[in-house]
Amino acid sequence: MGAPPTPVTAGVPLRPGPGVPPADRALTRPRRRLLAAAAALVALAAVGAGSLLDLRTPAPRPADAPAGEFSATRAYEDVQVIAARSHVAGSPANDQVRAHVEQQLRGLGLETEVQDTVAPEAGQLSGAAGGATLARVRNVVARLPGTDPTGRVFLVAHYDSVQTGPGGNDDAAGTSAILEVARALTTGPRPRNDIVFVLTDAEEACLCGAAAFAASHPLAADGGVVLNLEARGSTGPVIMFETSKNNAKLVDVFGRAAPHPVGTSFAVEIYRALPNDTDFTAFLDQKFVGLNSAYIDGGAIYHTPLDTPAAMDRSSLQQHGDNALGLAREFGRTDLTDLRSGYDATYFPVPRGLVRYPGWLVLPLALLAVLAVAALGWLTRRSGRASTGQLAAGFGLALGPIVAAPVAAQLLWLAITAIRPGYAELLDPYRPIWYRMAVLALAAAILFTWYALVRRRIGPAALAVGGLAWLALLGVLLAVAVPGGAYLTTLPALAGALGGLVALRTRQTGPWPVVAVTAAAAVGVVILLPTVVLLFPALGMAMGGVAALVAVLLGLTALPVVDLLHPQAGGQRGLVALRARRLAALPAGAAALAAVVLAGVGLAVDRFDAAHPAPTHLMYALDAGTGQARWLSHETDPQPWTDGYVDGVASVADDFPGLGDAELRAGPAQAANLPAPKLDVLADTSAGGERTLRLRLTPQRAVRLATLHVDTATATVVRAEVAGRPVPVEPRAGRWGFGLVFHAPPPEGVEVTLTLRPIAAQVALRAMDASDGLDALPGFRPRPPAVGVVGSHSSEMLAVARTYPL
Ligand SMILES: [Zn+2]
Repeated sequence: MGAPPTPVTAGVPLRPGPGVPPADRALTRPRRRLLAAAAALVALAAVGAGSLLDLRTPAPRPADAPAGEFSATRAYEDVQVIAARSHVAGSPANDQVRAHVEQQLRGLGLETEVQDTVAPEAGQLSGAAGGATLARVRNVVARLPGTDPTGRVFLVAHYDSVQTGPGGNDDAAGTSAILEVARALTTGPRPRNDIVFVLTDAEEACLCGAAAFAASHPLAADGGVVLNLEARGSTGPVIMFETSKNNAKLVDVFGRAAPHPVGTSFAVEIYRALPNDTDFTAFLDQKFVGLNSAYIDGGAIYHTPLDTPAAMDRSSLQQHGDNALGLAREFGRTDLTDLRSGYDATYFPVPRGLVRYPGWLVLPLALLAVLAVAALGWLTRRSGRASTGQLAAGFGLALGPIVAAPVAAQLLWLAITAIRPGYAELLDPYRPIWYRMAVLALAAAILFTWYALVRRRIGPAALAVGGLAWLALLGVLLAVAVPGGAYLTTLPALAGALGGLVALRTRQTGPWPVVAVTAAAAVGVVILLPTVVLLFPALGMAMGGVAALVAVLLGLTALPVVDLLHPQAGGQRGLVALRARRLAALPAGAAALAAVVLAGVGLAVDRFDAAHPAPTHLMYALDAGTGQARWLSHETDPQPWTDGYVDGVASVADDFPGLGDAELRAGPAQAANLPAPKLDVLADTSAGGERTLRLRLTPQRAVRLATLHVDTATATVVRAEVAGRPVPVEPRAGRWGFGLVFHAPPPEGVEVTLTLRPIAAQVALRAMDASDGLDALPGFRPRPPAVGVVGSHSSEMLAVARTYPL
C-alpha cells in the first residue's frame, strides 16, 4: 500500500491554524467539510431544478389569444368533438369525425379533399396477426399553397382512434393541434413553401392511411418535410423522439424554431428498440425527411376508455401546438431542396435550449474522455492520493452499483407487481411518481451503501476515478453501438475528469477544488437528470431499472461531492472516527428508508378504483360452423375478473388464424347467434394447372376487420389480389399458411382473387370477422367499477369464423 489515501477534495477543510489546539481540529474539520458539502449540494440542486423546470409545459393560451398564435383552449374545442366517443377506422363515428375535420379545413378556405383508397400496411410490416394487412382508408388532405415553393411541409396526425377508447389524446391532440396550426397559418402572410395538412385514417389498425398518402397521393410525389404529431399518454413535455436519417439540418431547425425544444438523440435510439410504430414509419422509407413528436407521460390511460378529452393536460397540447406552429413557419420559409445532412446530430435539452453537435464528433469526444480520465488517474497516483492497486480496485468496485442498482430496481418492481398484479397490464401505474421516486431512492441507497463500505479501504480518489472510467468506457461503447446516446456518459466523464484535474492542480486549502468538482458534477446533472426523468414515462415502471442505471451513473459523476458528506479520509482516530463513520452511514440509511416508504406510499395511494380501474383483457370467439364459442384473454396470469371466464391455456391458431398464433387463456362460452362473414364465389376458372378463384368476402354485421386464410395443405397460393391490388404471398406458419387481414371493410364486402395450385380436391378457406364490444353476448357480466379494459387492439373483440370448402 502506498501513502494513506486522501480525497480529491482533501484540502477543503481549513488547515488548523497554529493557535488551534489539537482537540479542536476534529471539530473544525468536519464542520468545514459539511459546510462545503451543503454549498455544493445546494448548487447541484439548483442546477437540477433549473433543468427540470425547463421541461415544464407552457400554460394553455386562452380562446381569445391572437389569431396568429396557437391556443390550446381553441384547439381543445376540436378535441371535444373528435374524441366524443370511440371512432375506429370504418365506423360511423369515424365518418363524423372526418366530416368535422374536413369542414374545419374547408372553413379556412383551404383546398381540401378526401383520399379514399385501399392501402397495405406501411412497409408490409408485421402481418403477424394473420397475414398481409390492408385497409380501406379515407385521409383528409388540405393544402395551403406557398408563394414560391421550394418543396412541401406535411403536418401529419391520425384522426382515427382505437376501438377501446375515444382517443382524447391519441390522437385527437395531434389532429386538433394541426387544425389550430392551420387556423394560425391562414391568418398571417402566406408561407413560401406549400403546407399540406394530412389527417390520416387507420393508423391504429395498420398505419394504412399514412402509407396510402406517402405512396400514392399526388401531393406526396416529390416528398418533403413531415412533422408527425402523436400522444402516448395524457401529460408531460412533448418530446421530439424520432427523426429521419442524417438529421443534423432538421435538428438545427428544431433547435431554433421550436419554442420548447425537448428532444434527445438518445430517444431516437430507444424508440428504435421499442415495438411501437406511428404514421411516421410510413414516410420513412419514402422520399421524406422529418420529425416525430409526442407527449408520453400518463401512459396508464393509453388506448383505454380513459383516454378522454377530460384526461388531457392542455399544457401538453399547448406545447405540441407551439412547436408545430413554430416548425411549420420555419420550414415554410426555409429552402427545402437540401435538408439532408451527411450525418446525424447528437442533441439534448439544456435549460433554455437544445445542445447539438455533429455525429462525427461522437467517437473523438468519447476517446478524449477516456484520455482525460486516464490522465486524471495518472495524476491521482503521482500525487500520492491512490496507489495503482487502489485505482484498479476503484475501477473494479465501481461496477458494483452500476449493476446492482438496475437489478434492485427490477426486483422492487417485481415485488410491487406481486402485491398488485393488475400493474402487469398497464404501461405505467396511474400515479407512478411514488414508484419513480422509490427507484431513485433505491439507486441512491445502493450507491451510498457501496461508497460507505469501500471508501475507507480504496479511498475516495480511486473510487471517483473508477466511476469516471466506467462512464468514459460506456461512452466509447455507446459511440460505436448507439452513437446518439454516447453523450450521456462521454460528456459527464469528460467534465468529471477535467474537474478532477483542476481540483488536483489548484491550492488545496482554497475553495477551488470544491468548485471544480461541483461544476463537473453539474454537467452530469444537466445531462443525466432530465434523462432519468424522461426515461421513466418512456419505458414504464416495468423497465425502471434503466432509469436506476442512469441515476447511478449520475451519482458516480458526483462522487467527489458525495464524499464531502463523509469524514475526511485517513484523518480521524478513535471515538471521533467511529462517530464520523456512523454519520457516513446516514445518507445510505436515509435513502434506503425513503425507498421503502415511497414504495409503500405508492401502494397505498395508487389503488385501483372506478377512476383508476385494474385493466383486464377479454375477447370472444365463435366458430359459426361448429357452434362452439370461447372466451379468450391474453393475460398470462388472469386477474380475478378474467378468471371468471377462462380456465386454461389454448392456442387458437387453427380455429381463429386471424387472432395470431400466441397462446391465450381460454374458457367455454355460450354460442351467440351471430353470422360469420359470407364468402361468395364470383368466378372459378382453371388453366395450366392453376385454379383462379374470384371471391367476395362480405361481413354480415358491422365489423372492424375481416380476415381470410387458406389451408395450404389443400392448395398452394401462387398469387393474391385484394380489391384489385396484389398482396405478398409469403407463407405463414401453421395450417393456415396464407392469410390476409382487411381493416374497415366496406359494407359491400371485399373482392379477393386467389390463384392456387390445388393439392386436394377441395381448397379450404377460413373466413373471420371481428367487431368490438362484448356487452350483448350471452353470459357476459359487466365489469365492476374498479375493473377496466386493457388498451390493446384485441380488447373486447368479438370474432366469428367459419370454414368454406370450395
Ligand atoms: Zn394509438
